[in-house]
Amino acid sequence: LLGNGVIMMALIDHMKKELSALKPSDILAFNQEISQIPDIIQLTLGEPDFNTPDHVKLAAIGAIQQNNSHYTASAGLPGLRQAASDFLFNKYGTRYDPATQLQMTAGVTEGVYATLTAILNPGDSVIIPTPIFPLYIPITMLNGGEPVFVNTADDGFILDPEKLAAAIEAHQDSVKAIVLNFPTNPTGVTYSRSDLEKIAAVVRGKDIFVISDEIYSELTYTSTHVSMGEILPEQTIVLNGVSKSHAMTGWRIGLVAGPADIMAKIGMVHQFMITSATTNAQVAAEEAFKNGQDDAAPMRRAYIERRDYLVPALQKMGFTVAKPDGAFYVFAKIPDRFGHSSWDFARALAHEARVAVIPGASFGPGGDGYIRISYAASMDQIKTAVQRIAEFMAQHQ
Ligand code: PLP
Repeated sequence: LLGNGVIMMALIDHMKKELSALKPSDILAFNQEISQIPDIIQLTLGEPDFNTPDHVKLAAIGAIQQNNSHYTASAGLPGLRQAASDFLFNKYGTRYDPATQLQMTAGVTEGVYATLTAILNPGDSVIIPTPIFPLYIPITMLNGGEPVFVNTADDGFILDPEKLAAAIEAHQDSVKAIVLNFPTNPTGVTYSRSDLEKIAAVVRGKDIFVISDEIYSELTYTSTHVSMGEILPEQTIVLNGVSKSHAMTGWRIGLVAGPADIMAKIGMVHQFMITSATTNAQVAAEEAFKNGQDDAAPMRRAYIERRDYLVPALQKMGFTVAKPDGAFYVFAKIPDRFGHSSWDFARALAHEARVAVIPGASFGPGGDGYIRISYAASMDQIKTAVQRIAEFMAQHQ
């Protein structure tokens, strides 16, 4: 206990120092600013515009009525861990022992936090391919680590194995982890088996973990999602959950799966932070994994339909767009005549055209010059937004 206490004190001391280096999210501030604009269409959201399936809601209601409202095991309800393990095996062929290799968390967000806290010591570095969902950057910094960015914009938004090897070489022994996220927020691009094998070949046998955030796995459209946990199980920590697959962002249930020794440390961080994830939400997630294996199918169909409308419409207006094959984002390159500042472009679009998108610069190196458009919005909203963007583009010839 004393040992744990000393470690906690050291961590807390460290966090205090690193907090001063962090700034509040640009995206939140921007959202706040543009939400004041009347009749604005917000294509900014990173969450499904669908509702949690009824069978999942009923499971949670049952849990509440049966007074299933006590702490659970810190790793999560045994039935949920078994269901999550079966889900990953059925979908991706990966095997995790529910007793020692699976941790349920309060969403992938807490999972990333617990994972990086378990891995990092001050001075360690984490390789982060960008543009990417920014979450991993402040969490690395809060743990005294240094984010090392590898820009993927010239490589079709896929981490280039040679650039990865160069980044590891340049940082010698300090690299403790690399982050992957696919299908990728903000580009919708996903990694093929061969992409993953090339990355695995660079890190295999090194003292480096691959933290693989696969939260959009169920929203892969035409290609087959391959888990990094299948390719490099001994070094991969997979994060997934029900937020996107079952439209359950607010329930806050995620999972972390990986080698037993690192999972024991991740479990300890989790235990100190939140004891156990919310009990009725865990019951709901168990139902989702057990009996909702294909709940994502109708969402996928809707996202594909929206993508197929949006991408050619944007291309017609002069944006360059790599066709997304997953998640629900389009990452569109702003035509040259507007200059390179994605912030200027997004602000003008919000104020003049009443369409809100996220400036690409918020996703790290390689993101400026782009905007992220979320199509987790109704087809009607998307059609009106397209009309407004087209008028804006025409006015700025
Ligand atoms: N990882 C990625 C890549 C995301 O885009 C998001 C949310 O937008 C999350 C994780 C957060 O997941 P959760 O809601 O399970 O914490």
